[in-house]
Amino acid sequence: MTDLDEYGRRARAWLDAHARDLPREADLQTARAFMAELYDAGYSGITWPAEYGGQGLSAAEERVFQEAARDATMPVGPFGIGLGMCGPTLLSIGTEEQKRRYVRPLLRGEEIWCQLFSEPGAGSDVASLQTRAVRDGDAWVVNGQKVWTSVGRQADFGLLIARTDPDVPKHRGITMFIVDMHDPGVTVRPLRDMTGQSHFNEIFFDDVRIAPDQVVGEVNGGWAAAVTTLLHERVSIGMGATRTERPTSFAAMSEAARSRGLLEDAAVRDQLVDLYVRERALDLFNARLSQEVRAGIQPGARGSVAKLLLAELLMNGADVASEILGPDAVAYEDGEGVVARALSFAPGMALGGGTNEIMRNIIGDRVLGLPREPQVDRTVPFRDLKVGTQVKEAGA
Ligand SMILES: Cc1cc2nc3c(=O)[nH]c(=O)nc-3n(C[C@H](O)[C@H](O)[C@H](O)COP(=O)(O)OP(=O)(O)OC[C@H]3O[C@@H](n4cnc5c(N)ncnc54)[C@H](O)[C@@H]3O)c2cc1C
Repeated sequence: MTDLDEYGRRARAWLDAHARDLPREADLQTARAFMAELYDAGYSGITWPAEYGGQGLSAAEERVFQEAARDATMPVGPFGIGLGMCGPTLLSIGTEEQKRRYVRPLLRGEEIWCQLFSEPGAGSDVASLQTRAVRDGDAWVVNGQKVWTSVGRQADFGLLIARTDPDVPKHRGITMFIVDMHDPGVTVRPLRDMTGQSHFNEIFFDDVRIAPDQVVGEVNGGWAAAVTTLLHERVSIGMGATRTERPTSFAAMSEAARSRGLLEDAAVRDQLVDLYVRERALDLFNARLSQEVRAGIQPGARGSVAKLLLAELLMNGADVASEILGPDAVAYEDGEGVVARALSFAPGMALGGGTNEIMRNIIGDRVLGLPREPQVDRTVPFRDLKVGTQVKEAGA
């Protein structure tokens, strides 16, 4: 038995003992307790540097753990943005003090993180953001609004991008900050989505003061910092897919078709084959990305392929579920309503982390080397752009 086999055996034994009987949607207290146990057992931050609280192991151990955790119910949802995006960004471009202060509590589930990028007028074109940060003595003062902030209500900290220089082109006057979500100037309002839950929130900043040592990366270098976060986001969303049990998976849908006597129906079989092919394509693509990561090759923009494949797979799974289950798909027939929730959440995956259209643009431009989209505003100072409320200010 190799060391990796032994690692996998121990991981499965741990998961069997700790992650089999947890509720699918655990409350925050249970989720935090689970994260602490996961960390103490050595399975949180497997590849993260040991000096900041990680395990300092390789991508091979990470992959083995993910395989072992495939069928486990791990209530890690509230920590996904911290683990998938904020932590990796801090490790890539944070200061030594930031890494020492924030990484370990993030890995242990003691502090929850959110990503404060999107605004009402800045989603796909996030560089058009209007939240301002102005230097005032010993602090940056932030005013503005963010929207669609996942886990904003539970979060202790957020990675915020704000405009720090409106006199230069839009990509050049942005800075990334660590913001304390408990600051009295931060107001969080939940937004109800069509799953019936409040997964995301709108967040208002009123004169929030942020110390200069909470800048992540360079002042006015926030675009590069945001791109770092977004690359991690796409890889973690796309590759995370293989880790979670999906209520509309090929296995679940084949079983549903079998139990309804639909397996001989040619149209149903056709749909199941399509679902299987998409699932395999995503699995194989992710397996290849993992092998490359192990060999030291970073996925970069190819994370967008995994993200797009996942978004399309979830929509396809939702269509197949509607076809096979009919009204039961939305009628909470399965007791917990997991299929119904998967159906109403599926369209969100075609938006969150970048829309399918934007993923295709990125794949065309940065993976396939096709000509870039024209960007007529690339050299215009932000102040002169007609975006959001500036259109009104300019009287247009
Ligand atoms: C479940 C979920 C979770 C989210 N979590 C977060 C979060 O935690 N933090 C955060 O900051 N944001 C979050 N978001 C916001 C998300 O990043 C944005 O919704 C997304 O970037 C799209 O922006 P938008 O909604 O403003 O749409 P728009 O950018 O207005 O796009 C509208 C439509 O136009 C298309 N379009 C726009 N530009 C182009 C183009 N150049 N070429 C082709 N088509 C184009 C889009 O693809 C889309 O179909 C989340 C969204 C969802 C659904």
